[in-house]
Amino acid sequence: RASRKFHPEDTIVKVGDVEIGGNNLVMMAGPCSVENEKQIIDTAKAVKAAGAAILRGGVVKPRTSPYAFQGLGMEGVKLMEKAKEETGLPIICEIMSISQLHEFGPHVDMIQLGARNMQNFDLLKEVGKTNIPVLLKRGLSATIEEWLMSAEYILAGGNENVVLCERGIRTYETAYRNVLDLNAVPMIKKLTHLPIIVDSAHATGKYWMVKPLAMAGIAAGADGLMVEVHPEPDKALSDGPQSLKFNVFEDLMQDVEKIANVL
Ligand code: PEP
Ligand code: MN
Repeated sequence: RASRKFHPEDTIVKVGDVEIGGNNLVMMAGPCSVENEKQIIDTAKAVKAAGAAILRGGVVKPRTSPYAFQGLGMEGVKLMEKAKEETGLPIICEIMSISQLHEFGPHVDMIQLGARNMQNFDLLKEVGKTNIPVLLKRGLSATIEEWLMSAEYILAGGNENVVLCERGIRTYETAYRNVLDLNAVPMIKKLTHLPIIVDSAHATGKYWMVKPLAMAGIAAGADGLMVEVHPEPDKALSDGPQSLKFNVFEDLMQDVEKIANVL
């Protein structure tokens, strides 16, 4: 079902009124974690003003350390809903379990399956039984085939609203958080009809690398981007080093637009 062989035309996934795929370029932006009302509302307004189409915000966080901030849970979902009311932006939140799928699902426009859950097969099957649009991030060390097989789990259940997200893979290099596998973009386009976006924040882990890799992702043919934006990155409870201040995000949007216009 994921293969282009049996489904030659590009799939377009609708998230609220936003269409991902085809000729659109969709920006998903927002904080790594929802932290409080002011933080998420201010960020939502800023990213909307700069041209983002979808608001991201994590409410359950897959942190390496159990002592790190774990997210606000349902309280965070309610703050995301408030931000949606204020800006009109559709919202995306990550889920890590079947119970969170059923708890958060009815309140969000799209769910994110993060890198660490790309092969949580029970969760993939359960997501497949719904019609919720899903952003399926590539696993930390997943091959293209493994990633597409995970998409296949969701499609096989009947949910066709799958968008893929290349967010960097683990290599021997330690100078940055991950390596953005740009090869994946044209390869995915060749193998499947599903839209693909690039997350140049998790791919690099460094705020000053986010823009050049975002531009490269669009040049390579991605249908959109995901980046992290925070009012005060220095004080962020997660992923501050790769989070963009509002003015830096605005600047990124302008340069991404320039790339899109020459394609
Ligand atoms: C995130 O989007 O904040 C996140 C945890 O991403 P990933 O699953 O790609 O690491
Ligand atoms: Mn993050």
